[in-house]
Amino acid sequence: GNPQPRVRTETRLASAKSYSARREEPPSPFSSTQLPLPLPLPRNSSAMAPPLSSWPWASLGIYKYFLLGPLVWKVAQEWAEQGGAPLGSRWLHLLLLFSARGLTYQFWFSYSNMLFLTRRRRVVPDGVDFRQVDHEWDWDNFLVLQTLIGAALVNGPLPLPGLEDLRVWDPRGLGIALLLHVGLSEPVFYWAHRALHGAPLFGQYHAGHHSTPVTQPLTAGFGTPLEALLLTLTTGVPLAGAFLMGAGSLGLVYVHLLTFDYLRSMGYSNVEVISHRVFEALPPLRYLIYTPTYLSLHHREKDSNFCLFMPLFDLLGGTLNSKSWELQKEIYQGTQCHY
Ligand SMILES: [Zn+2]
Repeated sequence: GNPQPRVRTETRLASAKSYSARREEPPSPFSSTQLPLPLPLPRNSSAMAPPLSSWPWASLGIYKYFLLGPLVWKVAQEWAEQGGAPLGSRWLHLLLLFSARGLTYQFWFSYSNMLFLTRRRRVVPDGVDFRQVDHEWDWDNFLVLQTLIGAALVNGPLPLPGLEDLRVWDPRGLGIALLLHVGLSEPVFYWAHRALHGAPLFGQYHAGHHSTPVTQPLTAGFGTPLEALLLTLTTGVPLAGAFLMGAGSLGLVYVHLLTFDYLRSMGYSNVEVISHRVFEALPPLRYLIYTPTYLSLHHREKDSNFCLFMPLFDLLGGTLNSKSWELQKEIYQGTQCHY
């Protein structure tokens, strides 16, 4: 290949590095001087790559979106048959969900980059470098996968109860989904995530996700197919449970998935958005909802704070990072300001 672009990138990275070295920073777990260098990118092209460690459509580039073409075709067919927008079409809702979910990450990505609003509350002061931008380019692979799984379920031979006659809303579904999320999804994710940090799984499946020390909302989606399937299970079980118990609804699918995406992209936003006063007023709440500082500590130190959204499971598993809320308070107040 042509070595010229690489030389240019290295020069720019070197100048960014010397800029960050010039800055005077107080000692902090998030200070850039302590940040590890990014791990080398996992190379999945070899024949020895473990299963589910690389995306089958990786070589398609941007053309991967054509995988959703059959869904667009189905909507077009229904549109023509009905002579208007097929508002009840499951294919249409799968596509709308794909867009709305992607926009949720995009919203947090834009917000966290509005430095005039967020600079004082950035968790890790460093910016994102070109390497990370390239590295996380296909962050939305998990959304493509989940949309395809949704299409298979909708069109599959085993229809979920309630799918034939899809209701708009059923409040019971929300309660069931919440119970299943806390009782199943959270502990399953916690233990699977801890397993992913052991050898050899970390190197095979999780190192790529951890290779960038500064998280951004798109990092939440960046990972191997195995990690995406774990997330699919985590998000899917509460929905499947609600539908199997006859309390599923279209509204539940939207509320559940968009809340899930919102909380994930918030955690990865690298901007502390939850006030320490909330936890001071309601201390038990700190075990029920994580914070961007909490998640960044996992990415920074890798031996604690493994939970999905609920620090309760780190407490039960003995992996709670004791600095989590003290640092969160400092960062929210801006006393960790690095700029
Ligand atoms: Zn991890």
